[in-house]
Amino acid sequence: MTLLDIINNSRSIVFFGGAGVSTESGIPDFRSADGLYRQKYSVPPEVMLSASYFYAHTEDFFRFYREKMLPLDAEPNAAHIRLAQWERAGKLLAVVTQNIDGLHQAAGSKRVYELHGSIHRNHCLSCGKSYPAHFIAESKGIPRCACGGIVKPDVVLYEEPLDQKTIEGAIQAIASADTLIVAGTSLSVYPAASFVDYFRGDNLVLINRDPTPLDEKCTFVSHGKVGEVLGALPSYSSEEEDPS
Ligand code: NAD
Repeated sequence: MTLLDIINNSRSIVFFGGAGVSTESGIPDFRSADGLYRQKYSVPPEVMLSASYFYAHTEDFFRFYREKMLPLDAEPNAAHIRLAQWERAGKLLAVVTQNIDGLHQAAGSKRVYELHGSIHRNHCLSCGKSYPAHFIAESKGIPRCACGGIVKPDVVLYEEPLDQKTIEGAIQAIASADTLIVAGTSLSVYPAASFVDYFRGDNLVLINRDPTPLDEKCTFVSHGKVGEVLGALPSYSSEEEDPS
């Protein structure tokens, strides 16, 4: 069966994605050859993005975070756009993402489960006041609330638990999908990667540049670029221009 056949015959698609979904928007992933983990830092990125590092070295955390984790100029690519069109056309139930960049919502997706939070939500650790991403981007040193508290991004750092409601919504969506598309993820960050095990539908589709542990269990595997692969499929929407 071709991917086009699978998508044509699907009525409740769920998309499970990772950092590779946004590389075509110019945001580096973690584990590709040109990903963040291959760049040289005195402290490894997975340590800098941990809760213990955040509290012990807050200023250094924010230096790294501002430089590498706040791609505020990035635009949705053909993958984000196609998924939003499928949701509007009633073909896609939900997007479950490990990304924190907000590009699915920027493309128009409504039901998005952000397993690792979002750079677009930030709050004061003392009084709870909310701040937008540009407040963090434009701050110097440690971003401070008017009350003096530290403003922390609502992104899930290593050592922190995922939000329970988000987990439940994501698992419920995956469990009720007829087709699950897994894309742009090395499936090495847990517990997020384990959520694909809840899929009970007909077609497990994988679109990932590098091989993953899931490849051999899939109905369809592509090692192409996710934006190119999804962009080549129909939008299922008569009123919209095809972006590809
Ligand atoms: P990862 O870096 O571990 O793996 C990315 C995978 O995507 C790789 O296997 C790579 O081959 C593949 N890939 C890269 N570009 C691709 C493309 N155009 N088309 C198809 N495949 C492509 O990413 P992960 O599994 O998501 O885990 C990394 C963690 O880092 C996640 O938890 C995520 O929260 C975070 N992260 C997020 C962003 C973001 O929000 N954009 C960016 C970097 C890291």
